[in-house]
Amino acid sequence: MHSIHTATLDGVRIHAVNCGFVKVKRSHRSPSMGAPIILLDPFWTEWLPIWVWVIEHPEGVIVIDTGENQRVTNSGYFDCGGADGWVTKHILRFRVQEQLEIGYQLKTLGIHPEAVRWVVLTHLHIDHTDGLKFFPKANILVSRKEYEQPYGSVPCTFPRWFNPRKIDFSQSNKHFDGAYPLTSDGRVIIVPTHGHSHGHQSVIFRGSTVDFFFAGDTTFTEQQLLDRQVAGICVDKAAARRTLDAIRSYCQERPTVYLPTHDARSAERLRNRQVVPAHFTTTLR
Ligand SMILES: [Zn+2]
Repeated sequence: MHSIHTATLDGVRIHAVNCGFVKVKRSHRSPSMGAPIILLDPFWTEWLPIWVWVIEHPEGVIVIDTGENQRVTNSGYFDCGGADGWVTKHILRFRVQEQLEIGYQLKTLGIHPEAVRWVVLTHLHIDHTDGLKFFPKANILVSRKEYEQPYGSVPCTFPRWFNPRKIDFSQSNKHFDGAYPLTSDGRVIIVPTHGHSHGHQSVIFRGSTVDFFFAGDTTFTEQQLLDRQVAGICVDKAAARRTLDAIRSYCQERPTVYLPTHDARSAERLRNRQVVPAHFTTTLR
């Protein structure tokens, strides 16, 4: 499996970069009763990719989430993290080689990590923050809510210099509860997609023919979006359902390629610009 997949849209190169693999409990991915059940579940999923997204925008390179690093496979890696570290260690398994870390793969693309202008973190879970070490000079953006109410993150693994810009969503948006314009050309916006964590956010690239929706962990797969299925790991199920409805209405209005972080088919959909089928049911259950 190639680790980098690329699409070009309106002169902008967009990459899916595979920064390793994670396994979760099956009850973590499917609807379930939450953390206690997930801890007790003996069944693991297959290896799921950890995608990092890179947009070579004319105003500067944007990296969405930062993937994993090889040290996560050391058995003592989570020991600094107290209860959240213990839970994380017991509900996730990782397969990561050093050459898959985002800093090395950016160089393969001819991009020096120090040249990255923006790093947008969809949320503060470890498989999204563990590549932060490559970006001490970037403008790192986290939603204010995520920063103030972290859920299931392991802050002792963050770089000591980590002090992101906390953003609010003050621009009005038809589908979401506000938006934050990232680029001045209006093509890249950040929207709140709460539920998986309190302050989860997603990034949208608005193209002339299709939009790309970088969804983080709103769902594990596109199928879950179509089925309006909230995953087992979710701090606020009602918020997660509202988020899925907002994304679904967005996708029905604009042809949109939906790209969750752990969907094995995300890169293929990026390359083929395969949009969410417009005819899926809108019935609210
Ligand atoms: Zn997560």
